[in-house]
Amino acid sequence: SAEPGRPYRVVLLGASGVGKTAFASIFAGAADSMDSDDCELYEVTEKEIEVDGEPASITLIDTWDSEQYMQTGDAYLLLYSITDRASYLRASELRITLRRFRPAQNTPIILVGNKCDLVRRREVSVSEGRACAAVFDCKFIETSAAMQHNVWEAFHGIVRQLRLRRDSK
Ligand code: GDP
Repeated sequence: SAEPGRPYRVVLLGASGVGKTAFASIFAGAADSMDSDDCELYEVTEKEIEVDGEPASITLIDTWDSEQYMQTGDAYLLLYSITDRASYLRASELRITLRRFRPAQNTPIILVGNKCDLVRRREVSVSEGRACAAVFDCKFIETSAAMQHNVWEAFHGIVRQLRLRRDSK
């Protein structure tokens, strides 16, 4: 559980190619550092952002060794690509795995349908995304990392949920 003074650990989860690195790059402030260095097991960026006029320290963890982070994250952005139905199914699996690792904890999770700029390649509808989030009891947002659309809203949303959880303790 996050206390003031300790950064929130926010973990990016999702199938390969859904845009985790793109999200991490936007968070880090490097809009175009999308060159793939696939040797890295994970990348960590620590940063203070302002949400609703209040600073929030975030450690963003971008990893494909996700199991390791199922237990240690404070919150999760669960990404899929709206152009890739398999990645949508993978997000459901990851949600189930998360629940197994984190039983009885209302860990903040946002289901993120990324690449919403690729309208003609859409394989997952908005309503399917919304329905999946409802089943899994998490928030939902569609984003485009390429257009920098809604990416910060996703980060801000996760901070708001973390604060709600903190304040309800
Ligand atoms: P990761 O494997 O989850 O880290 O995915 P990446 O961030 O490496 O993205 C995979 C590919 O999708 C890269 O070529 C990105 O440039 C591209 N990409 C990521 N987000 C978007 C998006 O919102 N729209 C479009 N059109 N391409 C994206």
